[in-house]
Amino acid sequence: MIEVKEQNSTAAVTSPVASNVFDSISGSRHEQIVFCNDPESGLRAIIAIHNTVLGPALGGTRMWMYKTESEALNDVLRLSRGMTYKAAISGLNLGGGKAVIIGDSRQHKSEALFRKFGRFVNNLNGKYITAEDVGTSTKDMEYIAMETKHVTGLPESMGGGGDPSPVTAYGVYMGMKASAQFAWGSDSLSGKKILVQGVGHVGENLVMNLVKEGAKVYISDLNADQLKKVSSEFGAEVIDPDKIFDLDIDIYAPCALGATLNTENINRLKCSIIAGAANNQLADETIHGPMLVEKGITYAPDFLINAGGLINVYSELDNYNRQRALTQTEHIYNVTLEILKKAKAEGVYTQLAAIQMAEKRISDISKVKSSR
Ligand code: NAD
Repeated sequence: MIEVKEQNSTAAVTSPVASNVFDSISGSRHEQIVFCNDPESGLRAIIAIHNTVLGPALGGTRMWMYKTESEALNDVLRLSRGMTYKAAISGLNLGGGKAVIIGDSRQHKSEALFRKFGRFVNNLNGKYITAEDVGTSTKDMEYIAMETKHVTGLPESMGGGGDPSPVTAYGVYMGMKASAQFAWGSDSLSGKKILVQGVGHVGENLVMNLVKEGAKVYISDLNADQLKKVSSEFGAEVIDPDKIFDLDIDIYAPCALGATLNTENINRLKCSIIAGAANNQLADETIHGPMLVEKGITYAPDFLINAGGLINVYSELDNYNRQRALTQTEHIYNVTLEILKKAKAEGVYTQLAAIQMAEKRISDISKVKSSR
């Protein structure tokens, strides 16, 4: 078994994940991976810094009860790479990083755990900046902020941007309108039949924007209370989760979970556009990206149109101003249109066109930084 020496620790410790850690990272091209272990507070976390060519690696800290340490490592590697692309395509001077804390967010949280994690973040001297993610909250960020200044996603009372979801929803709305412009020659969503799957923080705000524009909105969620609230507030029609992929609609907006675009669902879908907030919507990018092209469905790349939340926390680094974050998020419209046109002209699926554009920016700026 290979020994992994942990940051902040003089003793080398062994861990089951270490037996194949180098296999897991071979080919991933991550710059740095930090294993954080603190038995006193119960902290077991991994910070992955994928790429810092454009700037410090910013990405949230996810707290999740991973079944194995390998699963946690794979998740943080995959998510941090996604953050690199999201920042690059959004024109931000940020790199990509992410952290995962292994544990149950309902049982294992404590002030000590998050402050200890904050110290690990601090030891990276700003190369990694953390934020909220699934399983962590602004309260947890407050504890982290007691040990490091390299944290965003703080409450408004602490000079932060508060909940980024309305900004994320606005970006998805912009991406959706650009997709309509591309597919139908008009970006008006008035009268369009749009299904929003998942009406949580982002989905609810998206429904608000769509209803305001005069779209016919259908909603689906597993949370009955939330469904009732959104349908009565905005007049959206509730659809049974089992029936959503057979509905006759113009636009499908996945705003719940990732990987809903699998072979079975794509074969059932009756829509012209897919534009939503969920991360990693394509179950297998190389299979389902081209499959959507074949079916004539315009797919707005997820990491591009859901970047509003990242733009919002980026804005916190320089005297937070929500209006500035919203204006920058509006730019998602132009970039989406550009990507959709590029993908069509080059005969590639849209997610690939977006990745290529992000990689080109990183490569161009890398040359700028390495020249005199
Ligand atoms: P959320 O937890 O507030 O809302 C998700 C909603 O989806 C919940 O109401 C949940 O009940 C519902 N849901 C779960 N499984 C479902 C299913 N199978 N069918 C229908 N509904 C289901 O999350 P959120 O913050 O609104 O984020 C939504 C998605 O967007 C997530 O995938 C998230 O990773 C992504 N995202 C969010 C942000 C942000 O700013 N919040 C930024 C980028 C990406």
